[in-house]
Amino acid sequence: MSIELPEARILAGQMEKELLGKRIVSYELADYERLQKIGMLNKDERSFNRLVDREIKSIVSRGNSILVKFDSAMNLLISPEYGGKIFFHASEKAVSGKFHLKLVFGDGTVLTTRLTSMGVIFAVNDEELKRSYTYMRDFNPQVNSPLDEGFTFDRFSGLLSENNRMLKAVLVGKDAVLVGLSNSAFQDVIYRARLHPKRKAGELREDEQQALYDAIKTVVEERFRLGGKDEFYDLYGKQGSYTPAMGPRMRDHSCPLCGTSIEKLSLGGGRVYICPECQV
Ligand SMILES: [Zn+2]
Repeated sequence: MSIELPEARILAGQMEKELLGKRIVSYELADYERLQKIGMLNKDERSFNRLVDREIKSIVSRGNSILVKFDSAMNLLISPEYGGKIFFHASEKAVSGKFHLKLVFGDGTVLTTRLTSMGVIFAVNDEELKRSYTYMRDFNPQVNSPLDEGFTFDRFSGLLSENNRMLKAVLVGKDAVLVGLSNSAFQDVIYRARLHPKRKAGELREDEQQALYDAIKTVVEERFRLGGKDEFYDLYGKQGSYTPAMGPRMRDHSCPLCGTSIEKLSLGGGRVYICPECQV
């Protein structure tokens, strides 16, 4: 259950509504040693002590990340991009289910966060934040988000034309030309655009560039409008209702457009499901 741009934006909006101006009175970390070992949570758990008695000043999202800014130059960076659950609770008694981080606020309300796959939870000051790979990737103003006003077709077309790598590397990961898409959205996008994932960006015709641009906008905006993907639960536990057009659930199915069996490719360290007939 990946949390990509649309879901991160939904959560950040709900967190802003519930948590802005609140002060943390205590926190609890649970079941976190494995996360520390693989760099998904602060190496020194006492880093979270610095959040206690701090007040939340802003909550924003960009790319697949949620950034909570506190007074005294402290931050909480949450990026559960390959899976996570972030829930708001009216009181500590209302907390059920596992969490990695629990934050308790002055009014007794609670926020719990659990990573269910790769992602990060970091308590960092402003200086440490700038050294975080996830922050530098998702909050880099030089790299467009599909929701930025500056993300126009002309801009996107220019970025594709000067890039001769395969579409996967151009749209997903650390060298991507935009933030907020990971493997899940990528499969959905290129199926809708009828493009094969191994196509080179610089070789796309203008109508193919346009189809790709439109598919990115559609997937991101529809997922946001429909409350996230259908495997996603928002801050209040409400399930999203966006169903991806392509992805792992299409395994052993045939293409709804042409009836051809869906194929699985291994590409760039991940699996990509495609219709070999429609995507050329
Ligand atoms: Zn097809």
